[in-house]
Amino acid sequence: MERAVYMDYNATAPIRPAVAAAMGRALELCGNPSSVHRFGRLARRRVEEAREAVAAFVGVRPDQVVFTAGGTEANNLALAGAGRDRHIVSAVEHDSVLRAASPDAEILPVDANGVVDLSALADRLARDPRPSLVSIMLANNETGVLQPVAEAAEIAHARGALVHCDAVQAAGKVPFEVAALGVDLLSLSAHKLGGPQGCGALIVGDNVPLAPLLRGGGQERSRRAGTENVAAIVGFGVAAAEAAREGPAEGAAVARLRDRLEAGARAACPELRIFGIAAPRLPNTACFAWTGLPSETQVMALDLAGIAVSAGSACSSGKVRASHVLRAMGATAEEAGSAIRVSLGWASTEADVDRFLDAWGRLVSRPSAGAARRVAGSIV
Ligand code: PLP
Repeated sequence: MERAVYMDYNATAPIRPAVAAAMGRALELCGNPSSVHRFGRLARRRVEEAREAVAAFVGVRPDQVVFTAGGTEANNLALAGAGRDRHIVSAVEHDSVLRAASPDAEILPVDANGVVDLSALADRLARDPRPSLVSIMLANNETGVLQPVAEAAEIAHARGALVHCDAVQAAGKVPFEVAALGVDLLSLSAHKLGGPQGCGALIVGDNVPLAPLLRGGGQERSRRAGTENVAAIVGFGVAAAEAAREGPAEGAAVARLRDRLEAGARAACPELRIFGIAAPRLPNTACFAWTGLPSETQVMALDLAGIAVSAGSACSSGKVRASHVLRAMGATAEEAGSAIRVSLGWASTEADVDRFLDAWGRLVSRPSAGAARRVAGSIV
């Protein structure tokens, strides 16, 4: 049987071997980091080493790192905890920002390449002087498009707003430092960079008064109650250190694979729409629409061929819905309903790209593809 090919790194990246090894060792430790005895002190040391690695990874002090149970919690903590009732968010944010934002949050449009409209941000801030929180992601999970976060932060700060950045997808794929972005709050998630699922962090700037979401003990400097997930935090620290060390070389290799994949897909299907191709993008993400078959059908056919890709984040709870990201970029319902996302990473190879192009090329050239689209289109 042929080897299975994983091309869904933006959903979750395979755990790095060094991370799994360090987590295995950490799981064998017994000790609550809050306990004063030697067991507790050792667990505390492991947590603080990981905090230092995560802090160094994004260029902040360790005391600015608040460990959470993932990117979703970090985003919720930022939006609910920053104490600003008025929220301004981009139209292409992840659901964990869109749904954590206040019900009357103001939505910033994006252009056809998926880049946020900064003049709309400036207009909104100028029109209404209420203290605001602006939330703009660094890289989009569906298209990989990078946002002008530093410019947005400058505009927002000039009007006294706080700025949050969801950097969950960017971390480990493009280098950045929190100070250069100029943001007050920044979210990270371990499993997107080869760490464990269910672990992340919110980076909190000085002078940001953050109210906790979870109340209880005084862990994380009273910003996130609950006994720390020591093994996961250890894994996050190792993943952050590896991503910092290997990221640039991995990024360059992955960009070559992604570009070859897109060129091959376009050769098989010249009318292909590649989302965000004219904008700065993550090196690992390809999101494109060929309207011959619905996304779900393509994803299932590729899965049968042993290749794992995704239909964007449109199917997060088993229900298919049109991608709000692609629709915000002006995609038609048919385009949004037939887009697939291929995302690569540290273990991707040339052979993976060949397997994808072979399987997807066969799908595209299937004589029944257009007919299947018409039948499926009536039930999407
Ligand atoms: N933000 C973005 C941009 C994401 O892509 C994701 C996950 O897909 C999240 C936040 C949520 O992170 P987590 O899965 O750690 O809750």
